[in-house]
Amino acid sequence: MEDGLRVTVWNEGVHEKKDARVQELYPNGIGGQIAQYLRKQPGIASVREVTMDSPEQGLSDEVLETTDVMTWWGHKAHHEVTDERAAKVQAAVVERGMGLLPLHSAHFSKPFILLMGTSCSLKWREYKGIGEKERLWVVNPGHPIVDGVPECIELELAEMYGEHFDIPQPDQLVFISWFRGGEVFRSGCCWHRGLGKVFYFRPGHETLPIYYNDHILRVIYNGVRWAAPVRVAGGITRRKFAPLEPEW
Ligand code: ZN
Repeated sequence: MEDGLRVTVWNEGVHEKKDARVQELYPNGIGGQIAQYLRKQPGIASVREVTMDSPEQGLSDEVLETTDVMTWWGHKAHHEVTDERAAKVQAAVVERGMGLLPLHSAHFSKPFILLMGTSCSLKWREYKGIGEKERLWVVNPGHPIVDGVPECIELELAEMYGEHFDIPQPDQLVFISWFRGGEVFRSGCCWHRGLGKVFYFRPGHETLPIYYNDHILRVIYNGVRWAAPVRVAGGITRRKFAPLEPEW
């Protein structure tokens, strides 16, 4: 899009209120850290930050109608997002082509589950309350989401997510993670849903400095660019339809 993308960073914002470790790590919130990075990138026209405490949970019709791509971080309060707002997010993706990037524990967010149609459950572990090493391997080196990213991103400490991850087969698989404990996980997954695109990206546990990692931030930015809406000139027609050729 020539004028740049309008991005909304949706951040639940609950850990930041309750957990001193998260406050210390992300003084401007997890959303604030992601937003400040995106604001500096080319092709981004605006970055709006919203949380659960924003009007209509940050998911008002006005917000959704003026968002090209939404990133979503949530964990503790998935169930507090109303079914009505979650359905609106789903519709924004399917019917209008809004891009959606569910991050980390947003695998259990209502909009993601609606868009997938599966449980989206998985194995998980916070090893010794700290975490363990993760390596994210690029498995789709021609994909725009890995532009400028090394073939392996190493995170010294991460929460483990392991297969089986109950998702529909991704249209494109971009990253597979390896964990010190032996598990693997499909950490970067792309789907098309109606007019829209969804990119799930795994890293981002709230007590670890993962959103300060340049490679991780780059993947999120690339994901935003990839998930941008595409507009067919004149729109798409779905109804009873007359032949284009003269009568025969
Ligand atoms: Zn986590």
